[in-house]
Parts: sequence; structure tokens; C-alpha cells
Amino acid sequence: MKDFAVVGSGVGGSSIAALLSAKGFDVVLFEKEPYLGGCSSSFSHRGHTYNTGATTLAGYEDGFIVKEVFDAIGFTPDVVLTDPSIVVIQKSKITPRYKEFERFFEHLNKNFPHAKNRAFWELVYNINREFYKLNGHYYANANLFKKIKSLISFVPLLVKFQSYLRVDAHSFIEEFFGGLDKEYWDFLESQIRIVAQAPTKEINFFTAAISLAYTFNENHYVKGGFSSLFDAMTKDVQEIQTKSEILNIVGYKEYFELHTKDKSFTAKKVILNATVYESGKLFSDSKIKNYYKKYEKLDNHQSSFMLYMSIKSDKAFHHHYQIIEDEIFPHAISKAIFVSFSDVNDEQIAPKGYYSITASIHTDSRFWEDARSYKAQKKELEDILYKTILKRVKIEACEVVECFSASSKTFKHYINRSQLGGNAITMKNFLPFLPGNDTSVKDLYNVGDTVYAAQGWSGVMMGVKNLQRLLDV
Ligand SMILES: Cc1cc2nc3c(=O)[nH]c(=O)nc-3n(C[C@H](O)[C@H](O)[C@H](O)COP(=O)(O)OP(=O)(O)OC[C@H]3O[C@@H](n4cnc5c(N)ncnc54)[C@H](O)[C@@H]3O)c2cc1C
Repeated sequence: MKDFAVVGSGVGGSSIAALLSAKGFDVVLFEKEPYLGGCSSSFSHRGHTYNTGATTLAGYEDGFIVKEVFDAIGFTPDVVLTDPSIVVIQKSKITPRYKEFERFFEHLNKNFPHAKNRAFWELVYNINREFYKLNGHYYANANLFKKIKSLISFVPLLVKFQSYLRVDAHSFIEEFFGGLDKEYWDFLESQIRIVAQAPTKEINFFTAAISLAYTFNENHYVKGGFSSLFDAMTKDVQEIQTKSEILNIVGYKEYFELHTKDKSFTAKKVILNATVYESGKLFSDSKIKNYYKKYEKLDNHQSSFMLYMSIKSDKAFHHHYQIIEDEIFPHAISKAIFVSFSDVNDEQIAPKGYYSITASIHTDSRFWEDARSYKAQKKELEDILYKTILKRVKIEACEVVECFSASSKTFKHYINRSQLGGNAITMKNFLPFLPGNDTSVKDLYNVGDTVYAAQGWSGVMMGVKNLQRLLDV
């Protein structure tokens, strides 16, 4: 019998499996797909390789959470520092998000002049620095006692940032500047949404500040596509079962039995990396089903529509662009497209002279449910994203070698989830209402972007570290 069975090989599942293996536990990691990484994986299509969703690695820096977990695993990723982290294109306004404050600020202030700019961006910068200095908070919500204990661990954070936690980001920013023009608002909303995964009216200013400041921290490009990072990180995990979807889990007094369509496995403890909204389906036990049922309402249906392109070009491109247009795109919920290019020297992902491009826009998974309109909608959004990207990033149509798209439905088909971007930390859904890494069921745990702490590499890794603490290993 295994010590741990980890179901799902996303950022959360693969990291905790690698961490537990490094600590000497016997672990089996299950993944439905042939490749590891989930939203943060890469895949091949007609001989070209693409990152599936995530394209940036934040938090791999001394004193930051991703580096801390990788170091504990004994893993060094093959990465390139990317600076500017993003180049924001808003028609003629180009704002590179350089790591160095003054270098970024010069562009920002030229594009969006405002007397309060320096005070605002310094505040954002300082909240970010202060937040990453705070340590020691942890989160458990299996019972009232644990909830209270973990809330106490958050007291230093709550005290330090209380004035930014109680107010919604939209009101705070509006009041701070005494009014902003539409273009500047579009810039702020689009930049915040990449990290917070929610509009400024729904989140507090603390979350908005951490989101706006993420480019002041180091960001890395991962060489060879994200799945190669997962393969390297999990190389010492005792057993990895790919193409193995866990369909049912039965809990006994001292262990769990996990079933794929043709095999059964036993483990003392189970860690689920499936979304918290879907996990109840894996159990017949009504107590466990009910535990997960209460979180189904947190599914905000936010999702992504993807455009993948391979181009042959001798031009130089940055790693990441955010293109912001004036209006929300059809069948989407945003005005902004995030476009990532492979590194010019990364021949593992694209041969010399070629680039692999992964572009995404926020959408709502419910827009893609009607089978009758699905194809036409997909074509319409694909075409408009294609034209916009070519125009704004200056790619010629003759340079495009292949182009295809994916919707929420595609994600559901491959990685069992149509909600993407995880459980946004909104004013309504703040501590202590977040699903935790522990559950009310003995030896059953969760990890991933729909439970503590939030989405993205840094958010999920905070959950991994929290889970390590809860497991006391
Ligand atoms: C378009 C897009 C762009 C993004 N960009 C970035 C970015 O640039 N930087 C960043 O830090 N973050 C980014 N994110 C967010 C980040 O990718 C996710 O928050 C993170 O990868 C989620 O990890 P997870 O641990 O929740 O696992 P998931 O990615 O949800 O993976 C879960 C895995 O479990 C498997 N699985 C599910 N059920 C079962 C089962 N029953 N049996 C076996 N296997 C199962 C799935 O196949 C999947 O592989 C992006 C997300 C999207 C969608």
C-alpha cells in the first residue's frame, strides 16, 4: 500500500507528489492525460509544441514561495529571466512592465499622466514588498478549532493591511486618483485580472495591489515547454500513472481504495488535485459528497479561450504581451488578450526561425455549452483574436504556419475542468470561506487553484506549503 495517492498532476499535484517523495514517502501520482501539468502543461499538435495555458513562472526567486518549494524538492528548473515581464499594447500606447520601478514608471507616466501616479505605484510596490516579508500564516478549515487557529496566524497580515482589505479595489482606486479616464481604467483592470482573476469591484485593494505588483518580482520563461518542467520535477516520484483517470474512491477506516476503469490501488492518504467543484463526483460516501457539495457554488464559470499559433519569422519578439482593446471581445468577458511567444533560442519548443505562440482571453464556460452555436462562435472568436494579434504584434499572415483554437469545452475534454483560473479571492470569498487543503474527512486532502491559496504558480505553491505543514512532514 502507498503512503500517498495524488490524483491529478497539475502544479499542486505534481509539486506535492515530488515533495513527499523527496521526504522518503512512497507516492503514486495519477494523471488522466498522457502528459503532466494540467493548465500548466504543454502539448504537440501536428509536429508543433505549445504551452497549454500558463506561460509565465512567477515566484522562482530567493525568498519567494516557488523557489522555496523547488529547493525543498531538490529541483532546479531550466528557465530564463524575462524582463519586461509583459509588454502592454493599448493601440499606440506601449507600456513595458519592467521589474525595475523607475524604468517601468517612466513609460507608465508618459502613457497615462496623472499627478497621483507616483504615490499610487509606490503604494502598490510597497504593499507587495511588505507582503512577501510576512511569513508563518497557514490555513486549515476542517473544523471550527482549526479555522480559529489559522485565522490567528493571519493576524499580523490582517493588522498590517487592514485599511486595504476592507475596501473594494474599484472604490479605493477611484478615490485615490479622484477619477481616471477609461483607457487608464482598462489598463488597470486588465493587468489586475491576470492575477486576481476578478474585476476590481469584486476584490479588495490588497489583492489588486499584489496583482498589479507581480511584475516587480522576478518572472521566468520555462525552456522546452511547461510539461518538460513537470517531467524533471517529478523524476523521483516512485510511481506515475499517466492515462489513468481515477473514477471512484472508497474510504475505509485506515486507507482508501482508488479505481481507474481497469485497475485498483490502495493508499493510506489521498490528495486530490481535481477542482473542488468536481471532487464530490469521485465518491459515493454521502459525508464526503456533502463536504464538496457546499463548494460547488464557488464555481464562477470563468474560463479561457485559447488561440495557438506557430509562425516562421525572423523578427524579434518579447516573451509576453497583453493587448488591450476598447471593447469586450464577442463570446468573451474581457477586452484583453494575453499573448506569449517561445524564446527565440528555445529550439526544444520551436525550431530555429519559428515561434510557438499561446494566446488566451477570459470567457465564461456557459457561453460554450450550446452545441448548435458552438462551431460558429469558436470560428468568430478565433478569427477576431487572430486578426487582432497579427495587427497589434505585427505578424504578417504569410508568417503563420498553423493556427487553431480551444474553448472551455476543450479543457473539459482533456483535463476535466471548464472553470479555469481557480477560485478568485473576492471580498465575498475571503478567509475563512476559502476551501482549505484539509477536509473534514480523515486523511483526505486537496491541493490546486480552487482551494487555498489561489491560482497561478505562486498561489498554488502557497497551498502546497500549507499542505506540507498540515501533513506535518
Ligand atoms: C489560459 C491560462 C493561462 C494561465 N497563465 C498562467 C501563467 O502564465 N502563470 C501562472 O502562474 N499561472 C497561469 N495560469 C494559472 C495556472 O495555470 C493554474 O492556476 C495552475 O496550473 C493550476 O494548477 P492545479 O494544481 O490547480 O492543477 P490543474 O491545472 O487543474 O491540473 C489538474 C490535473 O488533474 C488531472 N485530473 C483531474 N481529475 C483527474 C482524475 N479524476 N484522475 C486523474 N487525473 C485527473 C487533470 O487532467 C489535470 O492534469 C493560467 C491558467 C490558464 C487557464
